[in-house]
Amino acid sequence: MNQLAERLSRISEPQTIKMAKLGRELKAQGIDIVDLSIGEPDFDTPEHIRDAAKKAIDEGFTHYTPVAGYAEVRQAVVHKLKRDNGLDYTPEQIVVTTGAKQSLANAVLSIVNPGDEVIIPTPYWVTYSEQVALCQGVVVFVPASIENNYKITPEQLEAAITPKTRLFMFSSPCNPTGSVYSKEELEGLAAVFAKHPQIFIISDEIYEYINYVGKHESIAQFGDLKNRTIVINGLSKGFAMTGWRLGYLAAPLEIAKACDKIQAQFTSATCSITQRAAITALTGDLSTAEAMVSEFKNRRAFIHEALKNIPGMIVNDPEGAFYMFPDISAFFNKSYEDTHIQNADDLCMYLLHKANVSVVTGSAFQQPACIRLSYATSMANLEKGAARLKEWLGKLK
Ligand code: PLP
Repeated sequence: MNQLAERLSRISEPQTIKMAKLGRELKAQGIDIVDLSIGEPDFDTPEHIRDAAKKAIDEGFTHYTPVAGYAEVRQAVVHKLKRDNGLDYTPEQIVVTTGAKQSLANAVLSIVNPGDEVIIPTPYWVTYSEQVALCQGVVVFVPASIENNYKITPEQLEAAITPKTRLFMFSSPCNPTGSVYSKEELEGLAAVFAKHPQIFIISDEIYEYINYVGKHESIAQFGDLKNRTIVINGLSKGFAMTGWRLGYLAAPLEIAKACDKIQAQFTSATCSITQRAAITALTGDLSTAEAMVSEFKNRRAFIHEALKNIPGMIVNDPEGAFYMFPDISAFFNKSYEDTHIQNADDLCMYLLHKANVSVVTGSAFQQPACIRLSYATSMANLEKGAARLKEWLGKLK
């Protein structure tokens, strides 16, 4: 007898987590795996933030907090959104969550009814469609091509909109592609949304600070979109704080209240100590984030060049985050000994078991011609990984 609820059949385990698990198992067997599947900075949380957390424990910030977060942390988010994005919010419009992932879940649960259409440009971070599926929404994928550096055009957006469209979800900078929408590109999308006032937008800006092309732009800045955009952000990537679990959303008041109501029944609030540390992170200077990004920039330059030198790979030009998303379809229908490569999943397994390099299949992000490589690892690992990729991809005939 199947004892599980039907909704479980609508979602699957993230491939990113699956690859990380497989890599860990092989490492535990003593195999020297170069892990390029990682979705988190390899840096330590900055010292001043760690100190703030220690102080919070000593000062007794160890009790339940308001569901949407301490007043001071919501105020710190308001300050950050004004300072970095020129956006004006009140603390009541902010909900602090257990990672950005819970902000996304709160927002999707607050907006999507069964049968509502949700437009998601692909490639995309797979959690989006899984959360929509849990709400019985209908996902409408809009494919962005590598020729357009994995960004959709206003024409593509317009063509995907129907009277049932309720929500648009995207990330810029993007996981898995690293693509960053420019001001002009966001204005182009905003002009389409202006014609369709029933559509909400979830703008996932978790990689905001990891941007190599200039100032981050939020779609909430354009036209009237702030009135129907839920800006999602958090500390995980920009401050190397993935384990601390602090995200936040800024939304129209009605949506913020709905998210608060939902969160009250799931997690109550995120960790009190993390929230105190977040005040320091959000109001302090950004020099540690900048130092981290400058290191990512060097690694990006290295891995971009190294991948371009592997015959068969078509390499994109990521402008943010810490991922490369090359097209590897040239290796399909090739073999090495008894291993035959039919798709990106096969290639990932070949690379894991033969080259001992862990990467994530593009099918996890709705782009089965690609793989995702993370350069959130040391330069030494990147050099070793790139050499192994070149050697083992070269053996496929
Ligand atoms: N959004 C995107 C695009 C991500 O890649 C991730 C994490 O990988 C998240 C959100 C979740 O971040 P958090 O750790 O704050 O839940």
